[in-house]
Amino acid sequence: MEELITKYFRPKLPHIWCPGCGNGIVTACVVRAIDKLGLNQDQTAIVSGIGCSSRASGYLNFDTLHTAHGRAIPFATGVKLTKPDHNVIVLTGDGDATAIGGNHFIHAARRNINLTVVVFNNNIYGMTGGQYSPLTPHRGMATTAPYGNVDRPFDLCDLAKGAGATFIARATTYHATLLTELIAKAICHKGFAIVEAITACPISFGRQNKMGSPANMIKWQRDNAIMVDAMAKMKPEQIEGKFPIGVLYQGEGFEYVTEYQKVIKRAMGSGK
Ligand code: SF4
Ligand code: MG
Repeated sequence: MEELITKYFRPKLPHIWCPGCGNGIVTACVVRAIDKLGLNQDQTAIVSGIGCSSRASGYLNFDTLHTAHGRAIPFATGVKLTKPDHNVIVLTGDGDATAIGGNHFIHAARRNINLTVVVFNNNIYGMTGGQYSPLTPHRGMATTAPYGNVDRPFDLCDLAKGAGATFIARATTYHATLLTELIAKAICHKGFAIVEAITACPISFGRQNKMGSPANMIKWQRDNAIMVDAMAKMKPEQIEGKFPIGVLYQGEGFEYVTEYQKVIKRAMGSGK
């Protein structure tokens, strides 16, 4: 890891993350995936919004954009349209991606634009004080839901599928090797690719929901995640309350940047 730190991280430590936070694990998985694929650092852009996880862009030695709350995907769309050869990776949180940035998320999926979006899902707004997000479980505790969350949460991967994303995967920080592989696959996919990374927030979510130590939160991930293929063969009573991990969907569709390039050619009087 020392070699990866020197190559891919800026000398800007200490970071802001709390002890036991899973954000460092997800960030390391992103870096390992980039390294595994041998991506050119000068042709790779990392774009983030606002929140604990979105601070990751500031620690990484790429072309990075730390943007406004919920707006990482529109900024990334701009980068991708002007630099189609760049690998554009969005690092975002559950609140950033599905509340403030919810419209951007679904419309980027609908357009099938060639971005890789890694959603650090800690089930809560960590940085701003532990408010519930669209991914906080029903009856989960939050500072804005001290008697339990009334809302039903999105299933992020189902949301992405319904909106038109063509690569959808999920893993947890317990399954860091799998998470790295899925991020690498998402980067290689031509189209809107999303990886949901289930990560522990022991301070804002764990404390309020009495989940115990950071290690206990990681054990919860181990005990509740099931590989999607195995899950398909299980009985309903065996999978109640569990969630699938792995590649949940991979499909094809018109890719937005490619189509946009064709429009430019038509407008210039050449191409079909
Ligand atoms: Fe991590 Fe939660 Fe602390 Fe934010 S508040 S740094 S998500 S543990
Ligand atoms: Mg969050």
